[in-house]
Amino acid sequence: MLDDLYRQLIMEHSRTKRNHREIDNGTHIHYKNPTCGDVMTLYWKWGPDGILEDVSFVGEGCSISMASCSMMTEMVKGRSLEEVKAMRGAMEKLIREGKEPGEIDLGDALSLAGVHRLRARHNCALMPWQALDRAFLK
Ligand code: ZN
Repeated sequence: MLDDLYRQLIMEHSRTKRNHREIDNGTHIHYKNPTCGDVMTLYWKWGPDGILEDVSFVGEGCSISMASCSMMTEMVKGRSLEEVKAMRGAMEKLIREGKEPGEIDLGDALSLAGVHRLRARHNCALMPWQALDRAFLK
């Protein structure tokens, strides 16, 4: 079952969070999901070539939010602003509308597709992306 595989991926990311650390000399912001109480501090560092050199987070919250944070850091690291914007839009469609993007590779974050059916958890899955909005996307 694809659902089981997806659930396992979410649990695995929430237990073993990728890039769960601070960045020395990085910029950071705090972000809170008002719906569920999930909290995160997002760290990032741009490289001289306009590429996100490093992205990390420190956070606490439900498994959906922590898995989504972990997946986000893997997706955006090494990407340009334009690429991150495209991913941001694709994640919004995936979670809010349940639409999988054909042209953008969301990697492990595709496993969050089922969250579409859980309206109360939309903000959990989108938390790291909303944090990016506040950080530099919007
Ligand atoms: Zn949550």
